[in-house]
Amino acid sequence: MRLPLPWPRSLQGRLLATYLTLMTLSIGGLMLWMGVRLQNAVLDQAQHDLELQAFVLANALRDPLEHVREDDKEREGRSLPQLIQVYAQTTEARVSVTDRDLRLVASSDRREKTGAVKAGPEFAAARQGREENSIRWDDVAGEQRLFTAAPIREDDGQAIGYVQLSIPMAPVVASMQSMWWPPLAMGGGVLLLTFLVSLWLARHMAHPLQDLTQVSEAMAAGDLGRQVTPGGPDEIERLGSAFNRMAGRVQEMLARQQEFVAHAAHELRSPLTALRLRLEMIEQHGRTDPDLTARYLAQMQGEVEQLQRLIDHLLALAALDEDALPPPAPTDLAPLLYSLADTVSPLVQQAGLRLTVDVPSHLPPVLVNPDPIRMAVYNLLDNAIKYTPAGGQITLHAGAVGGHLAVSVVDTGGGIPPDALPHIFERFYRVDKARSRRQGGAGLGLSLVQRIAQLYHGEVQVESQVGQGSVFTLSLPLVQPA
Ligand code: ADP
Repeated sequence: MRLPLPWPRSLQGRLLATYLTLMTLSIGGLMLWMGVRLQNAVLDQAQHDLELQAFVLANALRDPLEHVREDDKEREGRSLPQLIQVYAQTTEARVSVTDRDLRLVASSDRREKTGAVKAGPEFAAARQGREENSIRWDDVAGEQRLFTAAPIREDDGQAIGYVQLSIPMAPVVASMQSMWWPPLAMGGGVLLLTFLVSLWLARHMAHPLQDLTQVSEAMAAGDLGRQVTPGGPDEIERLGSAFNRMAGRVQEMLARQQEFVAHAAHELRSPLTALRLRLEMIEQHGRTDPDLTARYLAQMQGEVEQLQRLIDHLLALAALDEDALPPPAPTDLAPLLYSLADTVSPLVQQAGLRLTVDVPSHLPPVLVNPDPIRMAVYNLLDNAIKYTPAGGQITLHAGAVGGHLAVSVVDTGGGIPPDALPHIFERFYRVDKARSRRQGGAGLGLSLVQRIAQLYHGEVQVESQVGQGSVFTLSLPLVQPA
């Protein structure tokens, strides 16, 4: 929905505009209502006072009016005109007295002519015994006035005349107007306070968000080392802290990746350098020394294999990190393990070792993708072959152990020193750098096995005794029968 007014686009502007609009409407409404009530109260009071005075005067003027009617010259005390003069002065109102036919008998204002018939809604009401006020223009005084009238009655209740009181409206209006000042001042004060508080509140909320935006923009532009100062209301403060943690993690991940790439490049460089050196030697002496050529070619083949393995491992790690695999399915690993044993048997024979396969023809299913599992067990077998001296024994076991399928590769090799054990699953970690590299390892194999185990909610464990051998066990949760 589009608003007809230009509505601010910034969060701070919108919060401020919303608060102020709502407060102006509610406080304005309240003040208007208060002002009208106060102003009406002033008018009601003025009318009520005048009615009361008229009533009191009507009582007080009964006798003097009777004397005028009876034309009683001997009457003691003040005459009717004198009396109304006195009343007019004390009440500050004009007092006019009429006979029962509304002909003016006396008035405190000399400009009113005796004998003239008076009219007005207040007289009509007074004749019916009611009291009524009337605000109207008065020709005699040339101003707006408030009128009221009361009957002057005899003892038997008969009206012998009427008294009319009137006061100018100007002072009443002035007093009514002055009633507006307190609500206006109060409303203005509250609005000003609201403005200041909402300004503070809007800033308090908008500032941390602006900070966050600036830092995000700086990060998007490549400046990754930036952090925000968390502040503002709880939710925004938490957002700021979470942002900082996320930025920290991103930096950490990037650093790890850079380190990984540097390691990988370093590992690639050694076999490449060796290849280049041997190629140069063959180029220089190949023609004259066929034995050297044959030796170097055999070594170069080993280096190419080493490169191949390294690249296979790097690609496998990248594929696992991308999570580009199809959904895992319940799988019986027995056929896969038998086929693996076949695959490695030439290597086993070449190394002068024996391989025993202790795997039942069927295994309870586990939820996996076969290819990564094949790679993991292959790596374990490959390590066992590499790190076991000729004449040794390698055994491949598999079976269910308490809700898990355990696949173990047992060797009778040199074992792993206890201080190296906690590190062997780290990327690029090798116990004996020179020996391991000679045997074609870059220290990625076990980290790959661990990553694959984690992928299927399993784990890989090692037990090793120096001089006796090692047991690597990959355990995977069994598929729970539905
Ligand atoms: P690599 O490719 O160098 O073999 P791995 O990550 O597979 O790297 O293994 C890490 C290190 O753990 C190896 O360098 C080796 O020193 C040690 N290791 C792994 N498996 C065995 C084993 N079966 N017997 C003895 N040492 C092993």
